[in-house]
Formats: sequence, C-alpha cells, structure tokens
Amino acid sequence: MAKLDRSLLIAGNWKMNKTVNEAKELAEELVKGSNIIRASTAVLCPPFTVLGAVASVIESTVYRLGAQNVFWEDSGAFTGEVSPPMLRAVGCQYVIVGHSERRQYFGETDASVNRKIKAALHSGLTPIVCVGETLQEREDGKTHDVIKKQINGVLEGLTDEAVRSLIVAYEPVWAIGTGMTAEPEDADEVHAYIRELVNIAYSPDVSQNLTILYGGSVNESNAETLLYMNNIDGALIGGASLKPESFLQVISTAESIVA
Ligand code: PEP
Repeated sequence: MAKLDRSLLIAGNWKMNKTVNEAKELAEELVKGSNIIRASTAVLCPPFTVLGAVASVIESTVYRLGAQNVFWEDSGAFTGEVSPPMLRAVGCQYVIVGHSERRQYFGETDASVNRKIKAALHSGLTPIVCVGETLQEREDGKTHDVIKKQINGVLEGLTDEAVRSLIVAYEPVWAIGTGMTAEPEDADEVHAYIRELVNIAYSPDVSQNLTILYGGSVNESNAETLLYMNNIDGALIGGASLKPESFLQVISTAESIVA
C-alpha cells in the first residue's frame, strides 16, 4: 500500500554546520538553482543560530524553512531550549524531531519525542519524526521490533488529524553519515512496514497519505533508485545538503520522477 500521491519532499539537515555568513552563502547558491523546483517540496533545516539569516535569503522563493529540534513548552525557565512559537516566528514550517543523533547524544526518548511532536503540531509546525534501527539491531533481525516500538511510542495519544499533519523519516542509524545506504528494496520494505503500523493504529486513509522520507547517506548518485520506490516519498539529507550542487541534483532527480 503506497502513498496515494507521488509528490516528493527533499529536506536538508545541515546539522551543526555553518556560521551566519556561510549559511547565507549556501542558501544563496541554493536559491540560484531553485528554478528547477516545481512539483517537489524542498526544505532547509539549518541550525537555530542561522534560521533568521536563511529565512531572509529564501523569503519569496519556493524553499521552506525547518529547524532541527524543538522543546515542548512555549516559554519559561528552560535555559538553552527553543520553543515552537519561537520557530514559527522566525519562519519555520517544519521541525526535525527525534533524530538519532539527538537520541544518541542528548538522551531523547520516544516519550520526549512524543511531547515535542504534540507541541510542534499545536503551534502549526510540521514535525519530521525520525525513527531507525542500529546496525546491531538490524544484524540481530530486530528491525521491525525496533521500528514498531518507536512508531507506537512517538505516536502515542496522537489523533488521526495529528498523524495526517506529520512526516516520518526512516533513517537507519548505520546509514547516517557513513556512506552506507540501505538497498532501495530494504528501505522500501521498512517504509511499507511503517505504513502498515499506521494502518493498524489509525486507518488505511491516514496510512496512504503519510509522507515517509528515507535518510542515510542519500546523495546525487543514489537518490534516483531510492526515490523511485513506491513507499519512499522523499529524502532527509545530511552531508550532501551542504553541497549546493548535490542537493540541487537530488531535487532535480525528484522532479524527474514526479513530472
Ligand atoms: C541525517 O542527518 O539525517 C542524515 C541522513 O545524514 P547523512 O545524509 O549525512 O547520512
């Protein structure tokens, strides 16, 4: 059961890279190439410190802005955190939540990701919710168990309407930043499984309309075969999103698939 419409979304996760000037330069390069973007959606997720600068560069272009993390309270004594209304005010429409690096280094859990999703949705942000297994878990044949636990955990208590308003990103941890990409068929199989879980917990309609991105060393050389898969609705790209020509090439590939 694949997604009903074949629009593709390509999101760039800049991670902890780019000072203000560097970020503006990268965004300007991306804007120069943006006339290729017609049917697909392109989202840039720079660090908090450059969201405003990137927002100014991409204003009146087709690019959309996203953040890499968010806290679940709107304001208050939470030193170092950034809230959903703050992200909205700077121009964000999207926010990545539960990235494996945040789970690994900053103690994020399915429960905290669940709170962040609810808060993001409440403020009108579209969460890009990351799930994925480690190499050990894959080798132990536990991929489905891990994905099931994560999907059920992060979606806990969410209504049909809420799940319709979010995006899932399947990012096998072993493929992130390693140059190792999942075989397109293997990635597609996990995407289909995520869709099946959502079908069981919600409905065929919610499941068939769910956007599921693949992430893990996607670049201009491997994007085509991945994006052609029925259950893959786009890509979340780290390393290659810092190279304008690579990111634009992936978008161009997406455009040729949806055209
Ligand atoms: C990511 O950070 O979400 C990611 C997929 O990184 P990379 O493309 O570098 O593997």
